[in-house]
Order: sequence, then C-alpha cells, then structure tokens
Amino acid sequence: MPHIAIIGAGLSGLLLAHRLSDHAQVTVIEKSRGVGGRMSTRRADAYRFDHGAQYMTARGAEFRAFLDSHLEAGHVARWSPRLISLPDDGAGAARSWTAPRYVAQPGMNSLCKAMAEGHAIRLGIEVATVTRKGEAWALGDTSGDAIGTFDWVLSTAPSVQTQRLLPQGFSGQGALAAARMMGCYSLMIGLARPLDLTWDAAEVRDAPLAWIAVNSAKPGREGPQSILCQTSNAWAQDNLDRDQAQVRAEVLECFEQVTGLAVGTPQYLALHRWRYASVARDAGQPYLLDAAAGLAACGDWCGAGKVEAAFDSASGLARAIADHIG
Ligand SMILES: Cc1cc2nc3c(=O)[nH]c(=O)nc-3n(C[C@H](O)[C@H](O)[C@H](O)COP(=O)(O)OP(=O)(O)OC[C@H]3O[C@@H](n4cnc5c(N)ncnc54)[C@H](O)[C@@H]3O)c2cc1C
Repeated sequence: MPHIAIIGAGLSGLLLAHRLSDHAQVTVIEKSRGVGGRMSTRRADAYRFDHGAQYMTARGAEFRAFLDSHLEAGHVARWSPRLISLPDDGAGAARSWTAPRYVAQPGMNSLCKAMAEGHAIRLGIEVATVTRKGEAWALGDTSGDAIGTFDWVLSTAPSVQTQRLLPQGFSGQGALAAARMMGCYSLMIGLARPLDLTWDAAEVRDAPLAWIAVNSAKPGREGPQSILCQTSNAWAQDNLDRDQAQVRAEVLECFEQVTGLAVGTPQYLALHRWRYASVARDAGQPYLLDAAAGLAACGDWCGAGKVEAAFDSASGLARAIADHIG
C-alpha cells in the first residue's frame, strides 16, 4: 500500500483520510494542537466561541447526505436563530434564511473531531519542507527535524500556504498562484452578566462588522453568554497589519454602536486574526492533482470558500486518487 501524507486536519484533510484509508496507509499532519482547521472552537474559562466557520449550508446532494448522517449521529444540528439585520433598515429588522443552516455541536470543531476518530493524526507538527528523496517525498518540520517519507503528499492548507509548501515542479502551482484569499477578524466577548437580547444572530451592513452571533444560544451549547463578532473580509483585508489592540478596541466599539448595547468591561475579550478566511478568487479547478509526481492539493479555495466547497474539493480528489492507485 502506498503511504500518503495529508497536510492539515480540517474538514478537507479528514475527508481525504476517511476516503483513502482503504487504499493507502494514511498519516495526517496538523500544525495546531487540535483538529478542525477553520471550523474551530475556542474554549476560554467557561466560554466557548466558534471563531471560524459559523454555520454550514448544503446545496449539493452529496454534502447533504454527508450532513444527514452526522445529523443522525448527533454531531450536527439544524440552526434556526432569531435573526435580525443591523442597522434596522426600517423594513423591520427581523429576517429569516431561505436555505437551512447547520452547526456542529457542541462546537463547530465537533464534526471534525468525529471524523478524526480512528485515523493516524500527528498534531502540533508544522510541515516546512517537502523534498524529493529517491522515489519518495521527505517531509521536514519547522525545527528542521524529519517527519517521514511518503509516496504521496496532499496539501489542504490555504492556497497561499500550499503554494509555498509544494515544490515548484508541482503542476498545480499556476492555479495556486491564481487563487486569492481574504482575511477576517473574530472578536470574542464573554459576559459574566448576560445582555438581555431579543435576537441570536445579526447580519450587519455598512460597518466594519458583518456578523454577530450569540454563540451560547446555538444548539447544544452550554455555559455563560458568549458573543462572537466577525468583520467583513474587505475591512479585515484593509486592516490586517495594524496594531491588534487598536483593532480589538475598534471592533468592540463597532459592536456597541451597531447594537446600541454597552458591554462595559467583558470578563473575556479576545481578537483572532484570520489571514486566509474566505476566497476572493478560486483556483479554477475542483482540485489539483499531479499524479506523476505524487502531489496534490484541495480545499475550499478550489470553490466558493465554504465548508461545502472544501467537502466537494476533497471528495473529488479522493475519488481521483483512489482511481489512480486502485
Ligand atoms: C472567520 C471565518 C468564518 C467562516 N464562516 C463560514 C461559514 O459561516 N460557513 C461556511 O461554510 N464556511 C465558513 N468559513 C470557511 C470554512 O471555515 C472553510 O471553508 C473550511 O473550514 C475549510 O476547510 P479546509 O479543511 O479546506 O481548510 P482548513 O480548515 O483551513 O484546514 C487546513 C488545515 O491545515 C493546517 N495547516 C496549514 N498549514 C500547515 C502546515 N504547514 N503543516 C501542518 N498543518 C498545516 C491548518 O492548521 C488547518 O488545520 C469561515 C472561515 C473563517 C476563517
């Protein structure tokens, strides 16, 4: 059996591991301490924040069937928040979504945790080098230590990081260079004394903020009131390299302005900067496969920058590699 290294334990990497483990010996290598990637949940004291992906939509039949199986297993729930738009445009702020939204429970990382079960996952190792060693690929980490040698290397890191990691000779380099990703800031507010809110989520227009969710009101969550705010990608992109304490203060001020609520000094307040949150221009291909070299890449940047796009890209790549290696 060939030995495959998968870089990244987000949804793409874990789906690849699941689909390829009958065809190969698979090792997933993840730089963070846990699985989930951008479907992440931060725990801080009793507070919980989904500070990456907020919810999932399912437009295609394959992803719907995948979510259905996880709904049945209880890893995923439908989310129908009391939704408003801010500022109130005078047409009545309350609104509803036409397509259903789903969240993993009790945190957005729970779906990936369930998918990770039974797979060989090496956490806390950042792949820094991918170099040819005879017929195989040798992976090294950021300390210069060897990780191992593999017949195949599949990267699910965001496009810019994959572009840097995979060798220049990889046939997907042009598509990687064409893809563009944008940043986002997530502000996490933990409140000892809860705000009295008549809504669970808000879509925000014409402000640095684009989205607010009462994280603690999502299905399956427990604990004190946790509020998660996200900026627009455009605002984040323009403010990525500014002093982070100033950005945090501005985003908090924006929250108070658009909601008309005063939070005082929250018990927990933190800002997370995502350099590669969403996709401004996709790679123009469903996945990138260089079978002759034993290299490939996939992720949400092959599509619309959503969880479903990550799923579709990894699913397509898994099928193509399984066909290739038999
Ligand atoms: C703020 C924010 C809000 C979002 N909101 C939504 C939403 O509401 N709905 C939606 O559908 N999608 C949303 N998304 C997008 C969604 O999170 C992604 O589309 C999806 O999670 C991508 O999964 P992935 O596995 O392709 O990539 P990732 O989740 O990014 O996984 C890649 C993994 O690779 C690891 N990695 C990278 N480099 C290395 C390395 N050198 N060595 C080892 N490991 C490495 C990373 O740590 C990461 O775990 C949001 C994303 C962000 C950031």
